Amino acid sequence: SAVIVAIDGPSGTGKSSTSKAVAAALGLSYLDTGAQYRAITWWMLTNGVPVDDAEAVAAASGKPVIVSGTDPAAPAISVDGADASGPIRTQEVTAAVSAVSAVPEVRTRITGLQRSIAAEAAGGIVVEGRDIGTTVLPDADLKVFLTASPEARASRRSGELKGKEATDLSTTREALIKRDEADSSRKASPLKKADDAVEVDTTELTLDQVVECVVTLVEK
Ligand code: C5P
Repeated sequence: SAVIVAIDGPSGTGKSSTSKAVAAALGLSYLDTGAQYRAITWWMLTNGVPVDDAEAVAAASGKPVIVSGTDPAAPAISVDGADASGPIRTQEVTAAVSAVSAVPEVRTRITGLQRSIAAEAAGGIVVEGRDIGTTVLPDADLKVFLTASPEARASRRSGELKGKEATDLSTTREALIKRDEADSSRKASPLKKADDAVEVDTTELTLDQVVECVVTLVEK
């Protein structure tokens, strides 16, 4: 039967790399839910919606057409038919995404997309995010909550950004902590470990070790 794996945790814990590698190793589909929140945020920014105005964001939340690919080897996302995989990674989007994703109407819309994608993944799926185990797919077969020290998270994230945008470690660290605080303190399905999730601290682990650990948990 179709196995559903939920991988949650704060930024920079290795969620995306781990989720893609686990999906590829087990022949499962893959969904990056953060990319969907980034995509709706990018649409708001490019369509002149004031992202700090929750009412304006709520009113526009049904407008963008967001389509996510589910191949772990080639993650894809489009908004209104245009490839959004580049623009959703800018600092402008990163800085605005927590405010947009805190709006309940946005979460309802995106959660609906996520549930239908998971239901259509006949062979099973790995879904990564912040509230997958708690809210989106509470019946997932396996829930993993990844953590890492703030230092490890900031250095991983600034490694990813290297070359793309000028960032120093302390700026990255501050932005990341600020975003995690916003994501953890919002009212609508905050970033939170599900009671039945397995917590994996990745601070001292390599990517291969984390992947092996999760694959073993799925196969148990
Ligand atoms: O995973 P990523 O860093 O790309 O996520 C971007 C943002 O999207 C998070 O900081 C959070 O505000 C939002 N998000 C969310 N719920 C999810 C996944 C992401 O609110 N399931």
